[in-house]
Amino acid sequence: MISIPVEYLYILSIAFFVLSLKWMSEVRASRFGNLAGVVGMVVAVGATLAAYQIQRIDLVVVGVLVGAVVGTPIGLKVPMTAVPQRTAMSHAFGSLAVALVGVAEYYNRVPNLDVFTMSVLGGEIVLGFLTFMGSCIAFLKLQGLIPGRPYVYRGRNVVTLATLGLAIVFTIYLILDPSQQTVLPIMISLALLVGFNLVMGIGGADMPTVIATLNSFAGISAAALGFVLNNKVLIVAGALDGSSGLILAIIMSQAMNRSFNSILFGSVGKVLKEEQSAQAGRTVQQYTAEDVAIVLEGAKSIIIAPGYGMGVAQAQFVVKELADLLQKSGADVKFAIHPVAGRMPGHMNVLLAEANVSYDQLWEMEKINPLFPQADVAIVVGANDVTNPAARNKPDSPLYGMPILDIDKAKTIVFIKRSKGPGFSGVDNDLFYLQNTMMVFGDAKQVITDLVTQVKKRMG
Ligand code: NAP
Repeated sequence: MISIPVEYLYILSIAFFVLSLKWMSEVRASRFGNLAGVVGMVVAVGATLAAYQIQRIDLVVVGVLVGAVVGTPIGLKVPMTAVPQRTAMSHAFGSLAVALVGVAEYYNRVPNLDVFTMSVLGGEIVLGFLTFMGSCIAFLKLQGLIPGRPYVYRGRNVVTLATLGLAIVFTIYLILDPSQQTVLPIMISLALLVGFNLVMGIGGADMPTVIATLNSFAGISAAALGFVLNNKVLIVAGALDGSSGLILAIIMSQAMNRSFNSILFGSVGKVLKEEQSAQAGRTVQQYTAEDVAIVLEGAKSIIIAPGYGMGVAQAQFVVKELADLLQKSGADVKFAIHPVAGRMPGHMNVLLAEANVSYDQLWEMEKINPLFPQADVAIVVGANDVTNPAARNKPDSPLYGMPILDIDKAKTIVFIKRSKGPGFSGVDNDLFYLQNTMMVFGDAKQVITDLVTQVKKRMG
């Protein structure tokens, strides 16, 4: 029986979780958001340990120590570019824990399981194991331990849905007769198969959206377990996790112009091969860092649009150095942040924060777009799709409808990338061929370093 003070502590920890989500949605407050989440979790775990009569506290201590020894170095050492796979691993562990507690509860209580409890437990176990396997596959793909391309075969969706259907049928069977203990391993195997089949069919580059969806599944199964254990903090935390994960997945799919259904069952991750003919016969104007430095000298308003390539090149530090130099010389420098630039939500914010770029200089897409017509120069650093006007004017393009940065409205456009190659979507970018576009080919870090040298030279 949970005593009243513990209930109060649970309310306190729930308040911290809600504040955490609220603060994490604002760049400025995000560090407090992270801290609030940690405090909320410490209060929830502490209250739970105090409320229940723990018979083997030594096992809890060993668990905490092992978790800390493994988790601390991972948390400290993981590079920003590896955050998506680290998140996938967290979901895998979280959902496995939830699923295993569900299995333990089943064997503890069987055959005294009423229809409600068995329904919630069954759904939670299936969702937990599905999420565990899906997250493991996402991790393996993102870490490059298995090829990232989608494994698609004829009838994949039918197989996935049939396996899921079968798992549901066995769950119903167990709800009707919980004493049929052999059914549980069959349910678990089917759930693992669904997770495997679902995520293997999705390309590595689409994994962040899949991870947000799996995050939502893990939250829902945790909330369900909360009902079984009659633990209110687990219900609320799981519901917050489940709903925020779902909202994030929907926002990401909208920002990438994909329907949510296509993420789960459509040919997600089928990266379109660039049509060679799209580029044939079209020429770009190639420039050097020195040429760009001359243009920048006369520029009063400069907008830098970073993308995935900046992250790959780890160019954020030299980009910050360039921005500081240009500002020192009297120009106004802003950063244009597209919601899905890079390969995970908030990718650009994280990289630029790492390089200590001031939050005031980061402008979200809706706010910066009206400013492009007044910009003298827009410098695109390793971004591509998020600038592609095909999203506006080519109804047959896979990008059509995706909101983009209005780079084309700037007086001069500078693209820094290694080649004319396309971005994630595989679509050629008409901006490369404009009269006022300067293409500077090379690794972003190298080109910006050269640019910094040239700008310094000109500044004397
Ligand atoms: P992008 O369209 O993928 O383009 C990135 C560009 O960076 C490439 O064209 C590449 O050109 C260049 N690049 C790669 N390495 C480089 C290096 N070392 N130095 C310089 N340039 C380099 O990226 P984006 O404009 O950021 O758009 C993001 C895309 O990812 C969107 O299509 C979005 O839908 C998708 N996506 C985003 C998320 C998310 O949550 N943010 C999740 C999943 C998918 P070169 O090869 O010529 O250098």
